Amino acid sequence: MTTLLETGTRLCPVCGEQKDRLSRHWSYCEWPEIGDAMHDLLGGILLGGGTIQGNGDAKHLLVLTTNEELARWLFDELDWLAHSLRRETFDGERNPQYRVRTHAHDTLRRYRDRWYADGEKRLRDDVDLSADSARVWYALAGGIEWTGDYDSQFRVIFSAEADDRAAAIQSVLDRHGYDSERLDRRVVMYGDAARDWLDWTAPPAPGVEYKWQTDKPVYTALRTDPDDETEYKTELYTAALSVARERTDSILTPGRFEARVDGLDAGDVADWLGGGSWDDALSTAGVPKIPYDTASKPVTERDAPEYSYDDATEAVQQAAGAMGEPLTAAAYDEWRETETGVPSSVTIQQNFGWSALLLDAGVQPGRVVGHSLDSLTNAVLRMHRDHGEWPTSAEYREWSTSTDPSLQWFYEQEFDDIDSWSDLIEHAKAQL
Ligand SMILES: [Zn+2]
Repeated sequence: MTTLLETGTRLCPVCGEQKDRLSRHWSYCEWPEIGDAMHDLLGGILLGGGTIQGNGDAKHLLVLTTNEELARWLFDELDWLAHSLRRETFDGERNPQYRVRTHAHDTLRRYRDRWYADGEKRLRDDVDLSADSARVWYALAGGIEWTGDYDSQFRVIFSAEADDRAAAIQSVLDRHGYDSERLDRRVVMYGDAARDWLDWTAPPAPGVEYKWQTDKPVYTALRTDPDDETEYKTELYTAALSVARERTDSILTPGRFEARVDGLDAGDVADWLGGGSWDDALSTAGVPKIPYDTASKPVTERDAPEYSYDDATEAVQQAAGAMGEPLTAAAYDEWRETETGVPSSVTIQQNFGWSALLLDAGVQPGRVVGHSLDSLTNAVLRMHRDHGEWPTSAEYREWSTSTDPSLQWFYEQEFDDIDSWSDLIEHAKAQL
């Protein structure tokens, strides 16, 4: 079923008269001039999947998208050339498609000649992009995805199944200084090229603002097209939990959550989604506390759900009340001997991190035996001596041995004045 949503102006931009069939009128009156901005828009639409159609000499441009807001934006941008905006729904399909059509225009015949060979559309490899045409192209046909555990590890993609199509896309990007690679059925840009591309093509096009978001939880939340701030917050926190889950290969604690997603407070998430409870927040979001792939994990982690984060929190708070603070693991286990249904300090340490859980629970932790700021600093100093440079957190992960404090351990601690990896490096430098 097709529904007409909008019709373009019937006013001729040349003579100012009202005409029912503008393109027919233009063939007698005068073809209105298509300016640079309009050429940018048409080029972007053609790169982004638009087609040129029509039987007569004058052709029209047609572009389809499932995004209504984007369709309406394109329709508005086409201004006097816009003919109609239609919504098409197909049997058995949930999402309608939007069809933006221009009036037929003499100049579009020349586009047809340049973009088609033997009746088939061929992506041109010599298109001169402007930021505006690149924005439209990317809005219609591009995308972003993440390749690693950090928000900075993203790539910009264009799908390109056929070789000549991929070659044309790469050629257009290359002409404008963007390095790209062919990967499977796509053309991808990484690192600086991807970042520069997003900068250059900003501001984001309406309806697909998420394609310019490099913060994965924000991207995911915006993609759901939330209706208001409340819905956005729910989507954002839900997405953030899910992203942190993917990026953590052990029990998802508030501390690990904050180490994995940027700028979000685990307490806010627990309040908003779980009424103050971390476990309830996870359950509201439908995100499991244990890793998705637990098959290769130690038995203790697989068995962990026996005690929830909230159970453990309550237990250490009670123990602190009875035994005093700072609460050591030994004091806790002594208290536990007369209790039932509470986890051991070993279970707490393995599942949630002893210090991290206690600090979240508002209890001062006794020192965790084995690792300390000193032992971590010494490990970093050793790497500096061996490698001649200060390790990044990723290098630390790679270079550390099983007897060094893990990176995860570091993120679970709360040291005075050391909140980040760069703080730690500064601290280590100060030791020399
Ligand atoms: Zn006219």
